[in-house]
Amino acid sequence: MTRNISVRLTKLFINNAFVDAASGKTFPTINPATETKIADVAEADKADVDRAVEAAKGAFKRGSVWRNMDASARGKLIYKLAELIDSNVPQLASLESLDNGKPYEDSVFDMGCASDTFRYFAGWCDKIEGSTIPSDGPYFTYTRKEPVGIVGQIIPWNYPVLMLAWKWGPALAAGCPIVLKPAEQTPLTALFVANLTKEAGFPDGVINVLPGYGPTAGAAIASHPDISKVAFTGSTEVGHSIMAAAAASNLKRVSLELGGKSPLVICADADLEMAVEVAHNAIFANHGQNCCAGSRTYVQEGIYDAFVKKAAEKAASRVVGDPFESGVQQGPQVDQEMFNKVLNYIKSGVEQGGKLEAGGKRKGDKGYFIEPTVFSNVTDDFKIAREEIFGPVQTIIKFKSLDEVIERANDTKYGLAAGIVTSNIDSANTFAHAVNAGSVWINCYDAVLPQAPFGGFKESGIGRELGGKLLWMSTPNSKLSPQRSRISKSSVIL
Ligand code: NAD
Repeated sequence: MTRNISVRLTKLFINNAFVDAASGKTFPTINPATETKIADVAEADKADVDRAVEAAKGAFKRGSVWRNMDASARGKLIYKLAELIDSNVPQLASLESLDNGKPYEDSVFDMGCASDTFRYFAGWCDKIEGSTIPSDGPYFTYTRKEPVGIVGQIIPWNYPVLMLAWKWGPALAAGCPIVLKPAEQTPLTALFVANLTKEAGFPDGVINVLPGYGPTAGAAIASHPDISKVAFTGSTEVGHSIMAAAAASNLKRVSLELGGKSPLVICADADLEMAVEVAHNAIFANHGQNCCAGSRTYVQEGIYDAFVKKAAEKAASRVVGDPFESGVQQGPQVDQEMFNKVLNYIKSGVEQGGKLEAGGKRKGDKGYFIEPTVFSNVTDDFKIAREEIFGPVQTIIKFKSLDEVIERANDTKYGLAAGIVTSNIDSANTFAHAVNAGSVWINCYDAVLPQAPFGGFKESGIGRELGGKLLWMSTPNSKLSPQRSRISKSSVIL
């Protein structure tokens, strides 16, 4: 672990080489813990997207090394990349914490999740099968699965390497070349991993990484006529514009992983200590910068006061500080804009009559640190109960009955995730079936596994990421207590 890691890779990665932007422009990337510049990074725009797409076309053309490669060899390359990530964890995790602000231990955890994701998809390469069809007439009829073509990928700043792995794993397993734009707040680790793909031996043009801004480089990817699919993770607002650009350009396929305002329901029959712990981690993990954060904590009336007291104590004891200090649980928010946005939400919560039980202010006078904040006395009409805050703010809302809370949980434009803590299996199953959310957790939260599909209903997104073929999954062989379940749901399209 070092905060003094030297930053060597700051150029665009196109066709297996680090190059300047065509415009020669750069942009600064800032350390959110100190508000100082880490490095200037090459700034891609449309001309660079065009260059990267040309490189990807070369990689994808008939007879190329990549197209001719055995599926199992492709799997070995992806596996090698996973191993290289594992052997570079101190450098990668240091760079991630420097650029994003998350505690070093959390960055280490993310790297393990990223390499596991690559390993999972490495195994898929030679298992993507078509089928034969006993059709009418003298025809040998079969299906054949083809790579869709060049895939554009636009990712956010909250899990920079992990989001990259979620996007690259399936695209590479299917044989698609990639043009990826990391978030402008956190470009450094994507360039580091790009360099590892070169070391692993990926052919020229298969992987291209273009740091830059959304309205320029991102929009050029979304509207490029030679990109066949765009995979996006970020805000619902930008998701709308990505889909519009895809429709207006070439009807490219779209997968969208967007925002959420996920309900976590705590029933009066729950173990109180466990419920407080689950709810705390559900909202405060990654400083609240988590698309599936349990950001509406619904607590049943019989235990409301006791829960609020313990939740406030837990938040107040959360260690906030330098991401490189051991024992720190929460670093700064990612940038000035998110910092201001979160503080404004806290202000609105107070103005609407919420009771601050913990936190509520900036911490210190340098860096984008915010105290872990807990509100009670919140009702469903509060802004902080309706909009995605993306910060360390727990809103605790009272409910009476399961039927009532299901209605209220579903009264949102989002449908990404949900959770319930209860000792009653009937309540757990009733809620899991009725809540309109892509992932539902019972007596746990945020168990995101490479093997299980992840994605949203309603304006939380389109499509599913990660693995699995089933609509319903649990964790029968997991080391977790069998009372904990993780359920992936999706709509059935016939
Ligand atoms: P964002 O949607 O603005 O940015 C995400 C990515 O999209 C970045 O790479 C950005 O450069 C790119 N982008 C922005 N505008 C674009 C455009 N017009 N065309 C193409 N690409 C574009 O999200 P943000 O500003 O980083 O965060 C704002 C909000 O987004 C947060 O408050 C949160 O609600 C949400 N968010 C959600 C997730 C998630 O995992 N679902 C992650 C990060 C942020």
